[in-house]
Amino acid sequence: MDCLFCKIIKGEIPSAKVYEDDKVYAFRDIEPQAPVHILIIPKEHIASANELTEENASIVGHIFAVAAKIAKEEGIAEGGYRIVNNCGQDGGQTVGHLHFHMLGGRSLAWPPG
Ligand code: 5GP
Ligand code: ZN
Repeated sequence: MDCLFCKIIKGEIPSAKVYEDDKVYAFRDIEPQAPVHILIIPKEHIASANELTEENASIVGHIFAVAAKIAKEEGIAEGGYRIVNNCGQDGGQTVGHLHFHMLGGRSLAWPPG
């Protein structure tokens, strides 16, 4: 399967790794939108949030637990941060492998555009 983030997980495309375990990979976004902009992705290929089911959705809880650890390491836990999932065309998803953006290090506007 031709998936950019599967290639990043396999190391076929280089990335700035922040965290890795048997289920999850986290790396710095190539086009950061905030001082801290990390992508957290499941190693299993799940195309988008639309493909989450009772069978595979436990990965999302794990991703948020990993995010809390990363936030502390990156020094943004106290100041706060945002975790975003873009789903589908209207959601602004451009890579077809489920991913969560972790954005922090500055005050973020709300609502998003
Ligand atoms: P989406 O728009 O699908 O929610 O987010 C995709 C994100 O992946 C974007 O923020 C984009 O900058 C990032 N991205 C795209 N290609 C690469 C890449 O090759 N390496 C890294 N590190 N990030 C990428
Ligand atoms: Zn993939």
